[in-house]
Amino acid sequence: MAAGQPGEAHGQAHGEMATTPGLACYLTDAVMNASSSTARGLTGLTVRDLEVMLGSRTRALVAAHWIYGPRPWTADIPETLPGIAPQAWIRVRDACTLPSIEVTEQAVAADGTTKLLLTLDGGVIETVMIPAATRSTICVSSQVGCTRSCKFCSTATLGFGRNLRADEIVAQYLIARMLAPVATPATNVVFMGMGEPMDNLDEVLVAVDVLTQAPAPQLGRAQVTVSTSGVLPGMQRFLAESHGSLALSLNGTTDAQRTALMPHNKTWPIAALLQLLRDDQRAHPRRIHFIEYVMFDGINDADDDAARIVELLTGINARLNLIPHNPIGTSLLRASPTPRIEAFHRIVSAAGLRCMVRWPRGQDIAAACGQLARVRSRPAADHVDS
Ligand code: SF4
Repeated sequence: MAAGQPGEAHGQAHGEMATTPGLACYLTDAVMNASSSTARGLTGLTVRDLEVMLGSRTRALVAAHWIYGPRPWTADIPETLPGIAPQAWIRVRDACTLPSIEVTEQAVAADGTTKLLLTLDGGVIETVMIPAATRSTICVSSQVGCTRSCKFCSTATLGFGRNLRADEIVAQYLIARMLAPVATPATNVVFMGMGEPMDNLDEVLVAVDVLTQAPAPQLGRAQVTVSTSGVLPGMQRFLAESHGSLALSLNGTTDAQRTALMPHNKTWPIAALLQLLRDDQRAHPRRIHFIEYVMFDGINDADDDAARIVELLTGINARLNLIPHNPIGTSLLRASPTPRIEAFHRIVSAAGLRCMVRWPRGQDIAAACGQLARVRSRPAADHVDS
């Protein structure tokens, strides 16, 4: 996915994953060392994990308050923690590390959207803080680069680096939430940064558990949304095992359209993806499914597409988000003109589908959907060094 509101693309089966020629340049020894390390990431521990390590629920709650409560980000675990016996806390210190993450760039767009370039073991990722009228949203990455090959996404051009660990995913939220305006705290998280979350599902499921757990961070389950480009096996497991929200990046109303934009649609076509949501709806009638629809000029924005999407989503408690495409690089794909988007919106709304247009945020710093690809943002007055 690539940043902001429920967003953009995603890709093929694991068996089809291919690394790109450029991959080696950012797969460093550090990645290999990190993946073989036995230390556990402190910011990926649930309260249950802490209880086992500390030997009591009371201590676990104290530790969770320190790890996930509001505080400036630090790379160090304190030697002692008030409320926890030193001999118990030392077990945590000996077994865990905080993820090594450095903010290497911070850019603020005219609309307040803030993009962070984060350097971690063996890679660079991007995390975005998006302020809105009443709350802020943190858009996190789940992979360095991406396993998929969506044609409209700049992250796809990076190839795949590695999966992020749950502690690295949660740490993005802990770091970026400090940037949210006081009046609009960061209460929402979307997995729409770099990467296809369903290709790193074990770690994503843990991260969602941690983000929604009491006593902290305690985000609402409906406020944590995992977005997928349509990786069916992962979607099945996510719906069965997680209470977080799911967003499907649909982007086409025929398989021909969608396959041209998202090649893995050949493996998991539209009908199979939507049938899963329909089946889930029968089991969970109150669950809402978000459908993301990036709009491309002359490709998927016709009146016929609007009529077809209404038909396709029949039987699904769907919220449709229309997202004007954010042009990238030399791609020939263009955003649908505003009047076309508005006409499309009118047709689906008149048919009774709940639909919103998600106008791009942070476009001037390449923080909008599909634009996350370690792009150095403009060194203008809105640029702030970390
Ligand atoms: S990050 Fe880009 S390439 Fe990867 S799944 Fe999302 S839209 Fe597709």
